[in-house]
Amino acid sequence: MTPFEFLLPYSLEEALSLLDPEDPNVRPVGGGTAVMLMMKAGVLRPTRLISLQRIGEQHARVEKRPDGSLLIGGMARLADIEANATVRAGWPLLAQALRGVANPRVRAVATIGGNLGHADPHMDMPPVMAALGATVVITGPNGQREVAADALCTGYYETVVRRDELITELHVPPQAGPGAYLKLTTRAAHDWPALGLAVVLGLQGERVTSASILTGAATDVPTRLRNAQSILMQRGVSAPVLREAAEAAVAEAPLVADAHGSAAYKRQLLRVALPRAVQSAVQRARSAP
Ligand SMILES: Cc1cc2nc3c(=O)[nH]c(=O)nc-3n(C[C@H](O)[C@H](O)[C@H](O)COP(=O)(O)OP(=O)(O)OC[C@H]3O[C@@H](n4cnc5c(N)ncnc54)[C@H](O)[C@@H]3O)c2cc1C
Repeated sequence: MTPFEFLLPYSLEEALSLLDPEDPNVRPVGGGTAVMLMMKAGVLRPTRLISLQRIGEQHARVEKRPDGSLLIGGMARLADIEANATVRAGWPLLAQALRGVANPRVRAVATIGGNLGHADPHMDMPPVMAALGATVVITGPNGQREVAADALCTGYYETVVRRDELITELHVPPQAGPGAYLKLTTRAAHDWPALGLAVVLGLQGERVTSASILTGAATDVPTRLRNAQSILMQRGVSAPVLREAAEAAVAEAPLVADAHGSAAYKRQLLRVALPRAVQSAVQRARSAP
């Protein structure tokens, strides 16, 4: 292994000053679960790793803001977000989806900033955060900027976060209505998804007032299924409408082949997943107290 620096800054400012906009081998480390795998695989040979461990506590708050939205610090651990009572009560989709990410050992150390910053297309959180309408707060040498979670991932392992910036917060608006995250895996249930589908519906009786549907894992970046959303909003959630929405989703999603299956297989998964995810969300609304 090539020697590298491992630095543990005491403040966000210090961490930012140690990043290098020019060098892809200088990396921040949250939980290190993805960084370590990349190093073991030889795809990352860092010259400097900047651990966010010491500053984690100041940037790991998970709490409701006065405007009703949820604040999640960029260094909050996945297990802490999942266990948070405010999240479970107000953002059940997030808690449900987090329970299926990797395994408890990974969730105990992995951070939400690392999860979103990694941008492996198979991650569960990016489509969920986008379906919830979350905003990602990115901090760099010139201050903060905000990016919609929808626009965070730009390609295969690529995000809009620059090399001298860090994901420091997420703001998640109140969950608009019932939601569901369906993760279809080809091996164990906690495996990486072959296809992930996040759904949040606004419902007034049988009427769909809003629909937010994103697929991940089977596409290079989380993809909003706009035509499927429109069909639900115009025509409701009856079985024939769901079949039509699923066909629209299959037609509009740029599904790709990978180690988890061919594009044709992913099309079939999406065809099955969309009605199931929507029905599961509707069911949650009906069984709510
Ligand atoms: C066995 C195993 C199974 C897994 N299964 C799943 C799964 O089913 N679903 C799933 O979604 N994920 C899965 N994962 C991936 C896991 O969720 C990620 O490894 C984890 O979320 C990354 O978080 P981290 O804090 O450890 O990131 P790190 O490894 O620390 O960093 C990952 C990347 O993000 C960058 N980064 C870190 N922090 C920040 C920040 N604050 N701002 C900007 N960039 C940052 C790093 O430089 C690096 O490029 C699995 C991982 C393992 C090891």
